[in-house]
Amino acid sequence: MRLSILGCSGGISGDLRTTCLLLDEDTLIDCGTGAGDLGLARMIGIDRVFLTHSHLDHVALLPMLADSAGSFRNEPLTVYALPETIAVLKAHVFNSHLWPDYTVQPTPERPYLRFMAIRVGQSILLKDGKITALPAEHAVPAVGYLVDSGQSSFAFSGDTTYCEAFWESLEKAENLRHLMIEATFLESSRERAKISGHMTPGLLAKGFERLGRPVDILITHMEAGREEETMQEILALSGRFTPKAVSRGQVFEF
Ligand SMILES: [Zn+2]
Ligand SMILES: [Zn+2]
Repeated sequence: MRLSILGCSGGISGDLRTTCLLLDEDTLIDCGTGAGDLGLARMIGIDRVFLTHSHLDHVALLPMLADSAGSFRNEPLTVYALPETIAVLKAHVFNSHLWPDYTVQPTPERPYLRFMAIRVGQSILLKDGKITALPAEHAVPAVGYLVDSGQSSFAFSGDTTYCEAFWESLEKAENLRHLMIEATFLESSRERAKISGHMTPGLLAKGFERLGRPVDILITHMEAGREEETMQEILALSGRFTPKAVSRGQVFEF
């Protein structure tokens, strides 16, 4: 399988885009501002979106993606998310005020979008593999995802603080090759990180100790403007691992 990074920043400015991962040309994980760089033909080719949670940096372009591609597609765009995430999007985005309710528009028979609720641990089969929702702990209900091609797998934490169950899931993923994990705050902001449901370099190091095998670690969602400082702290604390900052445009085959 092939995963391309369209956006991996905690904020915008210049070349930075918020979280959006493209999987095999027909699937997105999160729909932050990175999705806006897809041309129309590629937007039309997106059949499904897996959301980690309802925060705007992860869903910002979902309303406009549904709108731009909708009239060219025969099937609705399927959006997989926790029931709580779906409830927020229905109440506050696709509510006929901020944006049309594309679950019944332009017509109830041929809507542009449909929601599918998922739960932690559930797997959805894809053309060449499967994707499983992983536990996470954030300010709002959230999941991570594990994409498994059968040969190897790619885990993405979404937004989370240290979550015991997340690391337990990774221990069970025997073919784990890549772990893309957030590191929003510096170690000096650990209290703020716990309250807001984010990671620090020290919390990451605690998790890495749980990994029983070599894994390619990719750091995402760093505070804009603090990337270098955050990476220095991570490298100083990561022991036998050598995490790298992930960047927009990177492609992973697994
Ligand atoms: Zn968030
Ligand atoms: Zn975020």
